[in-house]
Amino acid sequence: MNAEIIAVGTELLLGQIANTNGAYLAQKLAGIGVNVYYQTVVGDNPKRLQTVFEGAQKRSDLVILIGGLGPTKDDLTKQVVAKALHVELATDTAALEKITAFQKQSGRLNTANNRLQALKLADAESLPNETGFAVGDYYRNPSGADVVLLPGPPSEFTIMVDRQLMPRLMEQGTENGVIFSKVMRFIGIGESELVTDLSDLIDQQTNPTIAPYAKVGEVTLRITATAESTAAAESRVDQMVAEVLKRDGKYCYGYGDDNSLAQVVVHQLIERHLSVTAAESLTAGEFQSTLGDVPGVSAVFPGGFVTYANEAKVSLLSIPQHIVDDYGVVSKETAVWMAQQAKAKLATDVAVSFTGVAGPDKLEDQPAGTVWIGIAYKDQPAEAYLFNFANGRAQIRRSSVLTGLNLIRQ
Ligand code: ATP
Ligand code: MG
Repeated sequence: MNAEIIAVGTELLLGQIANTNGAYLAQKLAGIGVNVYYQTVVGDNPKRLQTVFEGAQKRSDLVILIGGLGPTKDDLTKQVVAKALHVELATDTAALEKITAFQKQSGRLNTANNRLQALKLADAESLPNETGFAVGDYYRNPSGADVVLLPGPPSEFTIMVDRQLMPRLMEQGTENGVIFSKVMRFIGIGESELVTDLSDLIDQQTNPTIAPYAKVGEVTLRITATAESTAAAESRVDQMVAEVLKRDGKYCYGYGDDNSLAQVVVHQLIERHLSVTAAESLTAGEFQSTLGDVPGVSAVFPGGFVTYANEAKVSLLSIPQHIVDDYGVVSKETAVWMAQQAKAKLATDVAVSFTGVAGPDKLEDQPAGTVWIGIAYKDQPAEAYLFNFANGRAQIRRSSVLTGLNLIRQ
């Protein structure tokens, strides 16, 4: 199946905002084996939008339009598409009820403008919008390319892609059958090392396919299969997952696009009734902030320490001055002391510490990226490990946080 994406909006055309929705969708489509051959950005201009849309109708099987479904005058996508397809617009009753209920509750005026958001192409399946009001459309075109309309705000768009569009496309499948895919997530192994371990599988890949992708501090593999049924495709994927786990299972921390390492680790800590704290130097609180992203973390995280300067390490953590003086702040000893003291002060089961060089400048004659991560666990003597991260200050700090999480993962 060949899909094409049209992002509508003058602000996109002028570069005032980046077309992140287009990138997001293209990646998702590639992940399930749908080819994207064209992506167009067009302004809020009905004539030019119509020209682009008609061109897309001729050359693609599926045309996905992003944006312009809102209540304002420049939101014209539905009207232009309806006209080009010679179909009427109809009101989606559920969407209209939602808009009316919100207006009543919030005391806003029930304007004709807002009711426009409940319009859809007649005969199209409506795609519910959980986080906004503009309803989406999936129009199965009897005489041309199928058409999908999705709203522009990324908070609405991404959820509708994940929960409305992707399941429908996967169910419908390609000419080869139904598509099923699974994302495996790895930490502690580089992309090239993982690819080398799996090189024979990747070289032979046809069905399933294996697509590696490196993100900051982690690597993902998307394994995609097609078969006559979802169950059959899933079983093909699971066989490949099992083979990958056999080789590199110890680095695989989870599955899916939405499950972060912090979530996985926090849930493990909650399950095992282990409380956690941290003493952070170069990460300056980023580790604790990352824990804080996970709902429910308060059950295991009482708080922690940000000790950036040496004096703070001494005063807040009561690390003896001579440790910092004798060994240096970027040292195994300091990392061990930081973890130990943080754990003792807040009486937790686990403590993680971070001390290192975020860069760009050297510190204590050690290059940017030199990071010691300490771990104190229950009554065991605290340990610290040396890492060398790269790619600039932000990535060095992020990699430190992810590695710290990974060290306490079970
Ligand atoms: P609304 O109901 O908010 O008007 P809409 O469906 O009409 O939604 P637009 O008016 O086109 O969508 O865009 C709303 C906002 O969403 C834009 O100001 C922009 O911030 C964001 N947006 C739109 N299209 C994209 C895109 N392709 N990539 C990233 N952000 C986008
Ligand atoms: Mg709009």
